[in-house]
Amino acid sequence: MNIKAIRFEGNGTFAQDVPALADAIKAGGDELVLLLPGNSRVKRAAAAAAMRAGAEIDTNVVDVDLADGKAVARRWVYRQRIFTTFSRAARPWVIVTDPSLFDELCAKVGVTAVALDAAASAPSRTTVNGVENAGTGGESTIKPDARLLFVAGAGWTKKQADGALHLDEASAAITGFLGKSGASLGSSKSLVDMPEAAAAFSFMSHMNQVGQTGSTPRHQKGLATCCHGEEPHVVGWRFVSERRAVNLDANCGWAQGKADVVYVADAFAVMKKVNELMA
Ligand SMILES: Cc1cc2nc3c(=O)[nH]c(=O)nc-3n(C[C@H](O)[C@H](O)[C@H](O)COP(=O)(O)OP(=O)(O)OC[C@H]3O[C@@H](n4cnc5c(N)ncnc54)[C@H](O)[C@@H]3O)c2cc1C
Repeated sequence: MNIKAIRFEGNGTFAQDVPALADAIKAGGDELVLLLPGNSRVKRAAAAAAMRAGAEIDTNVVDVDLADGKAVARRWVYRQRIFTTFSRAARPWVIVTDPSLFDELCAKVGVTAVALDAAASAPSRTTVNGVENAGTGGESTIKPDARLLFVAGAGWTKKQADGALHLDEASAAITGFLGKSGASLGSSKSLVDMPEAAAAFSFMSHMNQVGQTGSTPRHQKGLATCCHGEEPHVVGWRFVSERRAVNLDANCGWAQGKADVVYVADAFAVMKKVNELMA
């Protein structure tokens, strides 16, 4: 059995890593089974390198075993519902493991990981002068470590009691609260899908969407404002244990047993007062 492992040290670009890794796979010899740690750098380059080297690749592997001289991998499929054990006849075979399990799996199959030699890669016309972090282009409103998830719904963009839109007021109320509370910003799908909201609420994007087709944040507390609390949204709250909502509608989804407390009130007025009290 020819089993090897490569670790990646420091920064590297796709242009550097793909040829270097492809060369390492080709140089690995017949019957190569190569373990890689699935960090973002590896995930970016590994599939392209495997294709270039004519190798098969499997990712998100959580266990590797040697059974009867054969390498066997294990991974979850279908959203962690089925745990599979599988092997491949094709070689080279690249196995990308969960990064936190990489050292453990190397030890289990008795290999010592060597560092990727990016300098040994085939010559490229790309010259890398340095690596700069992309940055976020502004302050991020998504804060996984915050204690509170503040959800803004489409009601912020609807005509209010006076028959007018109040987008600037809504934007000020939301950003004012986020600034003072340090809460993470979530959104309903309806809000982030709205073109008029995109212009007025430039601090949020589809990345903020919570729900069935969005994210499932894990904050201790959640406060939903101007959000109806429909099931496709609320499924994204399954890990949020203390839930409150502010809605004009006493029969909104939150009031149907989906929140601990529902304030039947105007969120514009409530958040304005809250922001004043927090000043
Ligand atoms: C397949 C599928 C997947 C979906 N996935 C998602 C998903 O991932 N996430 C998601 O969010 N949705 C998802 N949806 C959409 C979901 O069903 C709802 O349409 C959406 O969540 C509604 O958003 P909303 O509550 O912000 O807007 P609305 O339904 O328009 O509700 C606005 C609410 O604001 C309240 N309101 C208005 N003004 C005020 C005020 N001044 N003060 C207080 N309350 C006020 C209104 O009473 C109303 O309840 C999905 C739908 C489908 C079919």
